[in-house]
Amino acid sequence: MKECFFKQATQTSVMHNFVDAFTSGCTRCTLSDSDNLPIIYKGNPESDILLIGEAPGKVEQEEGIPFVGPAGQLLEKIMTAIDIDIQKDMCISNCVYCRPVDFSNSNKQNYTPKEDQLVACYPFVENLIRIVKPKVIIACGRIALQQLTKDNSTKISTLEGKWTSYTKVNERNIDQEIPMFVMVHPAAILYIKENDKQIEKKKQVWTYMKEFRDSWKGKRKC
Ligand code: SF4
Repeated sequence: MKECFFKQATQTSVMHNFVDAFTSGCTRCTLSDSDNLPIIYKGNPESDILLIGEAPGKVEQEEGIPFVGPAGQLLEKIMTAIDIDIQKDMCISNCVYCRPVDFSNSNKQNYTPKEDQLVACYPFVENLIRIVKPKVIIACGRIALQQLTKDNSTKISTLEGKWTSYTKVNERNIDQEIPMFVMVHPAAILYIKENDKQIEKKKQVWTYMKEFRDSWKGKRKC
């Protein structure tokens, strides 16, 4: 128990240092902008579950917190329905920390992060995984799945609602597998315009997330 406490205390302080390094921004990719400061994570860095999504959106950028817009609210509902508290039981982050948006366009539409932006931010994603030391990872959406499997041909349609694994290289340069569950990005549910189809999709997601919850309980640490 004591050993577990010290390990977790270290995780929190290392995470603080990690976040502090972004205080004056980041210039590693084209998403760098003084209006677009990096948004790193929310939730508990000591938790068993690390969820990685795609990118911050408009509301996230305004609030400086990931997953607080409509998709984030739906994610919270899904997790609450399976008795997971997203602030306590999870740490939540994204594949890119800055909002992919065209500031020169008056509509300021979000876009899917580009390959060079994903590549530039990926070392930070890997660092965050090393800091949190999750027992399980949730790849939330196609972009997260393809980044975390390092394979752009990976199809979410074949892995959604299933377990796969994330391979991390540990301090001794040895590959370690972390169980990884794949879920649809909540934004993709919200994009479904036909009411019946959206309800059907929500039922499917709720069902497989309950299965996730049950198998996650068997993978808890400490
Ligand atoms: S998206 Fe990542 S790599 Fe690009 S500027 Fe933001 S923090 Fe840096």
